[in-house]
Parts: sequence; C-alpha cells; structure tokens
Amino acid sequence: LAAPLFADVAGDIDVSFEFFPPKTEKMEETLWESIETLSPLGPRFVSVTYGAGGTTRERTHNTVARIARETGIPAAAHLTCVEATKEEIDQVAQEYWAAGVRHIVALRGDPPRAGEKYQTHPGGYENAADLVAGLRKLHPFEISVAAYPECHPDSPNPTADIENLKRKIDAGANRAITQFFFEPDTFFRFRDDAAKAGIDAEIVPGIMPVMSFASVVRMAAMCGTEVPGWMERLFEGLDEHPGARQLVSATLAAELCRKLYAGGVRQFHFYTLNRAELSYAICHLLGVRPKVPALVGA
Ligand code: FAD
Repeated sequence: LAAPLFADVAGDIDVSFEFFPPKTEKMEETLWESIETLSPLGPRFVSVTYGAGGTTRERTHNTVARIARETGIPAAAHLTCVEATKEEIDQVAQEYWAAGVRHIVALRGDPPRAGEKYQTHPGGYENAADLVAGLRKLHPFEISVAAYPECHPDSPNPTADIENLKRKIDAGANRAITQFFFEPDTFFRFRDDAAKAGIDAEIVPGIMPVMSFASVVRMAAMCGTEVPGWMERLFEGLDEHPGARQLVSATLAAELCRKLYAGGVRQFHFYTLNRAELSYAICHLLGVRPKVPALVGA
C-alpha cells in the first residue's frame, strides 16, 4: 500500500455526501451553500440524517425533497425505527416515494435519551433488518444500511455484528455505509470478515473529516470508534489555528482515502457536517473534479 501520494488515483472514484437537516435559517443557508459547492462534483447521491425519535421528521423530509427537486442529484433520506409504530414509519416512507425520493438509509436509531438501553417501540420495527424488510414490501427503494468496522457498542461481539449486517443485506439492503474510523486496516479487516460471512454487497467507508478534534473525540466515544493517539498529537495546539487545522484535517482524511483506494476502494461517503470545504478539498486530492456546472440560484 505504499503508493506515491495521490499519483495513482485515476478518476474512477464515486463519492456521496451526508448532511443533517438545518435547525435555523442561518444553518439552512450554510447547508445550501455546501450543497451548491459540492453538487458539481456529481455525487452519486447525497443523504440527509434523521434526528433521534423522529424529531427532524419534517426538516429531513423538506431538505431531501428540496435536494431532489432543485439539484437533480439522487437524494437519500435516513429513516429510523425509534419511537414510532410500523404504520407511522411506513407513512413517512410513502411520503418519500410520493415526493420522488427513491433511496432510504434504513437504521434502527439510538435510544432517545443517551445512556439508556434501546427499546423497540410497541408495534414498531424491531431493528434495521426488520425495517429493511418492511420497506421492501412498500416500494422498490434503493436501501443503504449502517455497518460498524469497530463493532456496534450494543453488539456482544464482532461476529454477531457482522451476522446482523448480513441479516440487513439478506432482508434486501443494497449497500452498507460504515461508521467513521481512522485506520485503513480497520476497514480492510472488516471488509474481509464481511466477505467471509458471505456479504457481497458494496461496503462504502464513511469518512469523517475532523472539523473539531474535541467533538470527534466525543462522537467517537459514543459510537465505539477508536481515535488513535497519534491523532491527538497531530491536532495538538491547533484549536487557535482554524486555517492550519483545516489543512491538517484535509491532508489526514485524503491520506486515509488514498490508502483505502490503494486497497481497492472506489466509493467514499463523506460526513460533511454541512460544511463543504473539507470534503471538497479531499475529493479534489482524490482526483474528483466538477462534472456539471454549478447550480444557478439554488
Ligand atoms: P441495527 O443494525 O438494527 O443494530 C444495532 C445493534 O444491535 C447491532 O450491534 C446489532 O448487532 C444489534 N442487534 C440488532 N438486532 C439484533 C438482534 N435481533 N439480535 C441481536 N443483536 C441485534 N442515527 C440516527 O438517529 N439518525 C441517522 O440519520 C443516522 N444515520 C446513520 C448513518 C450511518 C452511515 C451510520 C453508520 C449510523 C447512523 N446513525 C443514525 C446511527 C445509528 O442509528 C446507530 O448506530 C444505532 O445505534 C444503530 O442503528 P443500526 O441501524 O445500525 O441498528
């Protein structure tokens, strides 16, 4: 995997971008500026997250529907099983289908109050595999699901977690998108284990560019991602230097992607946190260039 820096990247990469629904007008402006910046890169889809307990139901729907309407980029809506009956979730999915949305990222979701054990809602879908099976009965959606190279915190062990992923694929999911991670070998090991378990669907690495090191450490602790010690040293002293921090972040994430590319990965999913610059810079380093003219008046 000792490929010379970025020289081998051959313009054969597909990217997708994840956003979250904005809470305020100002955040909405930032989101749309980011979409305007990133959409010329021709992502194969962009996705919009769903807040715990359906708290962003309207905002997720409005954002996804607007992306579908105004950009022409295939838009994917995240959907969780949290605190809703099957009928309520099916209703949300039907509304997406009616709005022209054909791709769902199907998730179980987290307990509404952090630290509590996950409880299936009475009359609700039990987990993501159950949700995938439910969606498959409704419409021929394209369906993505979550995967965990460092094992989901609720899972008894990595083998059980891979079996859970297999159930989601067997229920009809088309691809898995991973939780973020920082070491390429973490992904390669997981990909090998998934293949051994008979999972042949595409597994797309989720790439988290570091916007703020402190918040990455917080998020990583919640989802069981290891933050290597060398990263702490890398970001040391950069809190007061946002420009330098951005450059370090872009270099780091692009380096991770380059090593994944050298290991055969051609699809990347970026957790943009609604900011375009870092993801744009990383894509550029990976040889991804504008394919379509910038949106006018979007
Ligand atoms: P599942 O695949 O259902 O599994 C969760 C865990 O429970 C696994 O460890 C699994 O092994 C175990 N499990 C499930 N069913 C069984 C069973 N029958 N027997 C034994 N073990 C079982 N959260 C949001 O709230 N909104 C979002 O928009 C969102 N987007 C995400 C996007 C991506 C790409 C990723 C990776 C995560 C996202 N999440 C989101 C977080 C996700 O909701 C949490 O990680 C949640 O805790 C698990 O969801 P899941 O779909 O992976 O669950």
